[in-house]
Amino acid sequence: MTPTSRALIDQLPGSKIREVADSGIGRSDLLPFWFGESDEVTPEPIRRAAADSIHAGETFYSANLGLPELREAIAAYMSRLHLPVTSERIAVCSGGVNALMIGLQAIVDSGDEVVAVVPLWPNLTAQASILGARVKRVSLRFDAEGGWQLDVPALLEQIGPQTRVLLVNAPNNPTGWTLSAAEQAQILAHCRQTGTWIVADEVYERVFFGPAGAPAPFAPATAPSFLDQATPEDRLIVVHSFSKSFLMTGWRLGWMVVPPRLAPAVGKLIEFNTSCSPVFVQRAGLAALRVGEPMVAEVVAKLRRCRDTLLPLLIETPRVRVATPEGGMYAFFQVEGENDSLVFAKRLVREAGLGLAPGAAFGDEGEGWLRWCFASREPARLVEGVARLRRTIG
Ligand code: PMP
Repeated sequence: MTPTSRALIDQLPGSKIREVADSGIGRSDLLPFWFGESDEVTPEPIRRAAADSIHAGETFYSANLGLPELREAIAAYMSRLHLPVTSERIAVCSGGVNALMIGLQAIVDSGDEVVAVVPLWPNLTAQASILGARVKRVSLRFDAEGGWQLDVPALLEQIGPQTRVLLVNAPNNPTGWTLSAAEQAQILAHCRQTGTWIVADEVYERVFFGPAGAPAPFAPATAPSFLDQATPEDRLIVVHSFSKSFLMTGWRLGWMVVPPRLAPAVGKLIEFNTSCSPVFVQRAGLAALRVGEPMVAEVVAKLRRCRDTLLPLLIETPRVRVATPEGGMYAFFQVEGENDSLVFAKRLVREAGLGLAPGAAFGDEGEGWLRWCFASREPARLVEGVARLRRTIG
């Protein structure tokens, strides 16, 4: 008999973004905007810290929850942006995706109900499914005036005492939608009543441009966070990453903020998953927090320039529907008449050498849409990309 994986794993969809990217393999003229990462290398002081650590022989395990000095530095960083956070609440993980998985492993039982605000980066719902949860999807709405909107009462109607977890990612990948502080307050109050955990994926919190229509320059340090309002005892897990604001995708370093009483369970789970993040990578994270603030400001300013290059061009393109994102690094748009996003994305690769992510990768709610990652070191590449799109759609 052929050995097979669990039926549940067999049923997980493969990555549709990868499917489109694979269709462009070998093309030298391709402009790829499909993956969610910048095309810039990690800043030198961060790379040097890792190299120094390796040269100093730091090649051993660390504590499960991370180096104490990194946990302290993360707690100080979070406390600068939000209400005070103690280091006992910080768990260092191997990227935001690993933090999400471990966070869910700590609180989700097989058969539990998990409510997710969608469209959503597919890893979150896939992780809940892997743990045997029943995932209920509540969709954002797009309206031409206000962009992406959450109907908060409709969401709260779906969350009852039977709901173990609410999964919410804001600023959102793929739509750029951001939760307001008032919406977070409503959600928090409701979940306190129902005893529901909130797993808040806030990895894009620093990539925030302010509410649409806000006067420029409007440069808040961070998007609204559940950590601005919650107490340490709330059922809240906030997930973070070094990947986006510090240009460290390949390092695999992230963290989560958890209630103090959950930390020992999280430590156990890290032992059984990765045991710890590599020490030299943790040293790089420490350097990022020590010297990285001007870099974050630069990264965000560049992303704003990219957004402000791409979005007006998309908005002016006939048959395109799009809202200017408040945060994140993606434009999520629709071309009238193009309803099959996978077919259309492959056609853009074939006919125009333009690499975008199909909206269907983010769930059925994203079908008919395309995601464009605008984190490009050269805004001119975005201009060329729009020219290619326009040529293809006529
Ligand atoms: N959450 C969201 C919404 C993301 O888009 C990503 C990266 N694409 C992550 C979490 C995880 O990032 P990483 O594992 O690189 O820290």
